[in-house]
Amino acid sequence: MVTEAKAFWNNKTLGEMSAREWEQLCDGCGRCCLHKLEDVDTGLFFYTNVACRLLDGESCRCTNYQERLRIVPDCLSLHPDDAGQFEWLPASCAYRRLGNGQSLEWWHPLVSGDPETVHQAGISVRGKITSENDVPREQLEDHVIHWIDF
Ligand code: SF4
Ligand code: SF4
Repeated sequence: MVTEAKAFWNNKTLGEMSAREWEQLCDGCGRCCLHKLEDVDTGLFFYTNVACRLLDGESCRCTNYQERLRIVPDCLSLHPDDAGQFEWLPASCAYRRLGNGQSLEWWHPLVSGDPETVHQAGISVRGKITSENDVPREQLEDHVIHWIDF
């Protein structure tokens, strides 16, 4: 049970959060670590089930979070100042939800107090992905998925 006083995600704007609170917002779903394809004609983009090579498919966490930006140049670091540009993130993402004025869902670990609920609710990518190490880039189109809303 989370007391209202501790529920910083309800009481602070994204910009008011400390660095630690900001990091805690990530639910560990791993969805943003999937490759995305953009249709150059429409500007629409599509998620694939192909994950960054640093993503652990079981924990759905980055295996080298501290060094990720150096190792994976495409990896994006989220910042409160960019909240208006989070539309590429899944609709379930805490950063996007709070940026849109929505609350966190019951399965978010901050709400449930249990890091497993994001997996139990079927939100995480656990058991649903393959690594980019196993998929040639030219085959990404064959891996487009439709189970992520954004
Ligand atoms: S989609 Fe959002 S909540 Fe999920 S892993 Fe990425 S940043 Fe964290
Ligand atoms: S480097 Fe880590 S955080 Fe960045 S996309 Fe890859 S797995 Fe995700």
